[in-house]
Amino acid sequence: MPEYKDISYALKRSKRKTSSIYIERDGSISVMVPENLSDTQVEDMLEKKRFQIYKHLADWEDANYNRVYREFVSGEGFYYLGRSYKLEIVSEQEVPLKLKNGSFRLRKKDLPKAKEVFKEFYREKGKTKILKRVKFWQEKIGVAPKEVKIMELQNRWGSCTPQGNVNFHWKTIMAPLTIIDYIIAHELTHLIHPNHSEAFWNELDKVIPDYHRHKSWLKLNGAGMDL
Ligand SMILES: [Zn+2]
Repeated sequence: MPEYKDISYALKRSKRKTSSIYIERDGSISVMVPENLSDTQVEDMLEKKRFQIYKHLADWEDANYNRVYREFVSGEGFYYLGRSYKLEIVSEQEVPLKLKNGSFRLRKKDLPKAKEVFKEFYREKGKTKILKRVKFWQEKIGVAPKEVKIMELQNRWGSCTPQGNVNFHWKTIMAPLTIIDYIIAHELTHLIHPNHSEAFWNELDKVIPDYHRHKSWLKLNGAGMDL
């Protein structure tokens, strides 16, 4: 792995015209450059972006320091709408997973694919609840998304496309309702301003004046909302 000062990175040369630097999900750095860029030019670019890279790494650490890796064993806690529910492995049950009497009940024979079963649970619940809240917020904000999907996104809660489709990560439903509302309103506001400009935040401020609070909540707790 090439290193520049204290930055080690994976370098990929390709037919692209522009260079970009990515902080990957695991915190590693990838540098993508056009084929003909020399090593010195790559280092020049890293030098210019050095402080931005440090900033991104710091943000990444902020977002991940409280990351939890969950095990599918009895007693482990799993989030749903901002609350943690203990997992119980049950021998018989008509569905693979359900939330009942304050605990998640997972059917024993579904243990090998527990992660998929949980994702499916979150996806299903998310579909109903998130779509409902999207309806509410789209009227307030005055936008009309073409399509709303619950899916697996990289390290983002939501995304939108230039065609006006809005996507939400299935893990969104793990967060408290106020945070889910923030994530939804945030994404829908992107249909007006597809960036994080001042105009964007001003627009969001009209419907969620305390969005700062939700934003920092997510930054602090978001990484723990995962499987
Ligand atoms: Zn955004």
